[in-house]
Amino acid sequence: MTAIDTARLKQMFDAIAVAIEADKDRLCQLDGVIGDADHGIAMELGFNAVRDALAPLDLAAVEPTALLNTAAKSFLNAVGASSGPLYATAFMRAAAAVKGKAALEGADVIALFQAMAQGIKDRGKAEIGEKTMIDAWQPAAEAAAAAHAAGKSLAESLDAALAAAERGAEATKDMIAAKGRSSRLGERSLGHIDPGAASAVTVIAAMRKSLT
Ligand code: ADP
Ligand code: MG
Repeated sequence: MTAIDTARLKQMFDAIAVAIEADKDRLCQLDGVIGDADHGIAMELGFNAVRDALAPLDLAAVEPTALLNTAAKSFLNAVGASSGPLYATAFMRAAAAVKGKAALEGADVIALFQAMAQGIKDRGKAEIGEKTMIDAWQPAAEAAAAAHAAGKSLAESLDAALAAAERGAEATKDMIAAKGRSSRLGERSLGHIDPGAASAVTVIAAMRKSLT
């Protein structure tokens, strides 16, 4: 595998923006059932802001850490919904995880991915089973790390992450929301996929496609 440089990371964010845009209506619909129907809009605003913030960067002159911190800041400034600080923290932690690297090897991408999930978890204080994006991100990060540790390629590891995220998002249907806006619904949140878990699958799928 050739190392992933800032140009590839920018492509990754562009790919996420495209994927989220295509998924926006579904994400708003899911959020309409157990939240306030803005999740697709929030994610689109965030990733469009990232795209705009990364566009003028001189990619030959910035390191992955600076690019990821720019992404974090622009996402945070653009998104007023809960997903704003959650993904901003994810990108800030990703930036810290690859500090000092000019380009990322497979192990660095796995570390970046795990840092994102841990950042979301630390920021939102959600545990598995509380019907949030953590139900997709945490198993995805664990699956990626396990596959990598077992000697699998980055592509195989991110395949495993995506499959785990999909299973995790599907499983939120049978959970009662315990964090975030939808927790006010209590048992009425049962039977519906969590919008943040659904968008996590979209983000992870775009990352997998653009990084492998
Ligand atoms: P808001 O609820 O402010 O409208 P969004 O609609 O953008 O924000 O995002 C809602 C999603 O955010 C939820 O579906 C859930 O996945 C996620 N979320 C909310 N609170 C938390 C939390 N404390 N930890 C992790 N994820 C959370
Ligand atoms: Mg919402």
